[in-house]
Amino acid sequence: MNLCIVGTGYVGLVSAACFAEMGNTVCCVDVNPKVVDMLRQGKVHIYEPGLEQLVQRNTSEGRLTFTTDLAEGLENALFVFVCVGTPSRADGSCDLSYVHQVARQVGQTMKDYKIVVDKSTVPVGTADQVKALIGEELARRGLDLEFDVVSNPEFLKEGDAVSDFMKPDRVVVGTENVRTAKLLEALYAPFARSRDKLVVMGVRSAEMTKYAANCMLATKISFINEIANICERVGADVRDVRMGIGSDSRIGYHFIYPGVGYGGSCFPKDVKALIRTAREHDFTPQLLESVDEVNDRQKLVLPGKIRAYFAEQGGVEGKTLALWGLAFKASTDDVREAPALAMIRALTAAGMRVRAFDPVAGATARQALGENDLLEINGKDQYAILEGADALAVVTEWNQFRNPDFGRMKKLLKAPIVFDGRNLYQPETMAANGFAYFGIGRKPVA
Ligand code: NAD
Repeated sequence: MNLCIVGTGYVGLVSAACFAEMGNTVCCVDVNPKVVDMLRQGKVHIYEPGLEQLVQRNTSEGRLTFTTDLAEGLENALFVFVCVGTPSRADGSCDLSYVHQVARQVGQTMKDYKIVVDKSTVPVGTADQVKALIGEELARRGLDLEFDVVSNPEFLKEGDAVSDFMKPDRVVVGTENVRTAKLLEALYAPFARSRDKLVVMGVRSAEMTKYAANCMLATKISFINEIANICERVGADVRDVRMGIGSDSRIGYHFIYPGVGYGGSCFPKDVKALIRTAREHDFTPQLLESVDEVNDRQKLVLPGKIRAYFAEQGGVEGKTLALWGLAFKASTDDVREAPALAMIRALTAAGMRVRAFDPVAGATARQALGENDLLEINGKDQYAILEGADALAVVTEWNQFRNPDFGRMKKLLKAPIVFDGRNLYQPETMAANGFAYFGIGRKPVA
């Protein structure tokens, strides 16, 4: 099949490479000429395990091409996947300007029947807007071409995006048109070989499903963080509590790891956007508002512990913190809404020096944080930043932080103090290695 994918970010490029891998012919369109140039040379501008090889193979075998020209992308395509960003506006609502722009451009350019597939996460009612905009542009051109607009939200996780796309838990298709549903079923058949993986529903339900999924996951995280904060105050250990509740099959172990709060380009913005949608429809989404507030508060729990610890020594001003992990989670270079950024801003504002290490997110973090005399970022050596630091904070759960050389850490740090925002270490191990240790939702080792 012939596809055009508009937007070559995490979702667009992964979808394009995976569709091409299954033998489809895919033309990717992006407005950023630098990104398109890099991709044409087989260089991938984002970090996603396995993606570069997939892009290189499919490009060299002629199934994957890149352009900045939408008309070229549309030329032979039956499907047009809209995978552009839908960031938050200041008021929490979803900024649809890129989606609307693509809709207008499709209407201005298309020459024959197209199935326009909204893969970006968009509020309920967006497919209707996309349809209206394309229709308006066609009318302006005096054309009455047939087209369909479908919702097909994406559920991949950054860091596992290729394998999630290749083996999805489900593929949600929102359309009222049986013929279009059949065509999408055929396109997804190689990924969702079991037929019941394809869930076909109305367009509005599909749009809502994506928000419901992300809000449910965000709720689980805020829930366990709330429990962790209570555990700390009552002398319980949230790690044991997680094991105790997760064994109940109605609850399960997944997504109930306490930590520094959720970040990334999806959960924060999608929770805010659904809150906004609900309010626009005269409904107060009490639970979702709490999920969002609990998360904002959680991002400042670890800096709070650091400030409390150093309060007795005259505060954090002039002290140096070594920080492991900038990405919002492991296996990605994405720092959008990353808890590490909130933490660095809070601590450097209080006069603390921060020396940070991340295996891949150093450059994106530097760009997001801008110039800051109190911040130094190192992308090469997790141990080098420890030398002479007053304490270490672990913020991202990269595997290389899970089992570090505690002896080496102790020698390098000025004082053996670890603030563990992901509960990667056990208090007993830290005590045995002579560290003061502060985790989340558990008794500290002083
Ligand atoms: P991204 O910011 O990584 O990529 C978006 C790309 O779209 C950029 O390369 C940008 O240059 C391009 N673009 C913008 N306007 C364009 C236009 N008019 N024409 C062509 N290209 C244009 O975004 P992303 O993380 O891939 O997310 C895309 C959408 O998918 C969002 O709605 C997001 O919520 C959703 N989503 C993201 C994830 C994720 O993990 N990142 C997962 C599921 C869904």
